[in-house]
Amino acid sequence: METLAHRPDLVVSGGTLLTMVDGAAPLEKATIRIRSGLIIGIDTTPEGQTADADALDHIDATGCIVMPGLVNAHTHAAMTLFRGYADDLPLQQWLFERIFPAEAAFLSDDTVYWGALLGCLEMIASGTTCFADGYFFQDATARAVRKAGLRAVIAQGVIDFPAPGVPDPADNIREACAFMKRWQGASDRITPGLFCHSPLTCSAATLKAGAEAAERYGTPFQIHLSETRSEVDQILQQTAKRPVFYLDDLGVLNDRMTAAHAVHLDRDEMGLIKERGVRLVNVPESNMKLASGVAPVTGLLRLGIPMGLGTDGCCSNNNLDMFQEMDTAAKVSKVFSADPVALTARDALRMATSLGAAVLGLEGRIGTIEAGKAADLIVVDLQKPHLRPVYNPYSALVYAASGGDVRDTIVEGRILMRNRSFLTLDANEIMRKVSAVAQRITAAAAGPNQTSAPPAATQET
Ligand SMILES: [Zn+2]
Repeated sequence: METLAHRPDLVVSGGTLLTMVDGAAPLEKATIRIRSGLIIGIDTTPEGQTADADALDHIDATGCIVMPGLVNAHTHAAMTLFRGYADDLPLQQWLFERIFPAEAAFLSDDTVYWGALLGCLEMIASGTTCFADGYFFQDATARAVRKAGLRAVIAQGVIDFPAPGVPDPADNIREACAFMKRWQGASDRITPGLFCHSPLTCSAATLKAGAEAAERYGTPFQIHLSETRSEVDQILQQTAKRPVFYLDDLGVLNDRMTAAHAVHLDRDEMGLIKERGVRLVNVPESNMKLASGVAPVTGLLRLGIPMGLGTDGCCSNNNLDMFQEMDTAAKVSKVFSADPVALTARDALRMATSLGAAVLGLEGRIGTIEAGKAADLIVVDLQKPHLRPVYNPYSALVYAASGGDVRDTIVEGRILMRNRSFLTLDANEIMRKVSAVAQRITAAAAGPNQTSAPPAATQET
């Protein structure tokens, strides 16, 4: 029997446990004990399964997979507001004629809050327990994350154009620093950060100031990097250097950097990324939708470069389902390399869990299920026609499951979704609020002034 001092708050038992610890095999009928938000023990003995009668709460995971919560390492949660607003367009037209004007006209502290809450709701529903976010009005995103009970790295956007909430670009670094100061230490689950939009939309001085601020606050420095061929060509034209070498010469290429996309890299750039300890995020569905290309994922992983997985924002995906993203990541890598054994199901799952945690600098707390780590985990229901039989749990999760198969979502020992019911958020209220914003956007697009909104240069791809 557990003594009172060690009595678990929550026990999850009976499932197939994927710890995602390197080299570890799945554990059948595992019992996970959780106390004060931490995993305090894992047991696979028959005695272990019956010793927790005095736990405060119990989840029976029989017939399910128990695994670490998924880490979405690059997104813009509040862009759920614009889901389906602009599709099937060339990137420049999509961005300058649709997304920028809509963001300029409709983003506010209030709309970002409700958009971010919708993103949180969708992530809880599809098994994501931690995400990295770069956007504007990030106090609103942080409040949404706090309310939802999720974990996140939330970075204030920095761009050298008038932006939502930051009308004068001269204030962009100052605003980001003020945001980081407000949220540093405010919540165990929130890491504030800074997001320099890209090497094209931020000047050399801004990039340097951003990297210095990230260093000062000890936070990840997010950026979009080498997303399109034209971006690489423009930087080559302006600086006579490829983007990775340009950033290195500025002194900003280091292990604080989390770079999303990383599609157009040559061999020397890959070597320098490895040398400098830069962390990368693969966002395959966004890259496919905007026809940006395919990141050389297997080559980067082979070099030992930490590479997580992200959905990007809902305007270029158009959902936040990391199960779908894992499936796409694996399949597109196979097509790209003409090698069916490239990026296995387990590799994809690693990118979405332990590697994603490492990319965000959170590998000491999350990403695997081990005693001493935070109890951020999900239960996936396998009792579904499309998931039977199960010869290989990694294959079932990556190639057959979807976010809708997640039954329970737990962050820091707190159950956020149980049997598909949300326990921290009012789904109807959130969807009603976002629908009201969408009606305003639709009405404005149909009105006579639809082209008059001033563009704010905020590429959120
Ligand atoms: Zn992005």
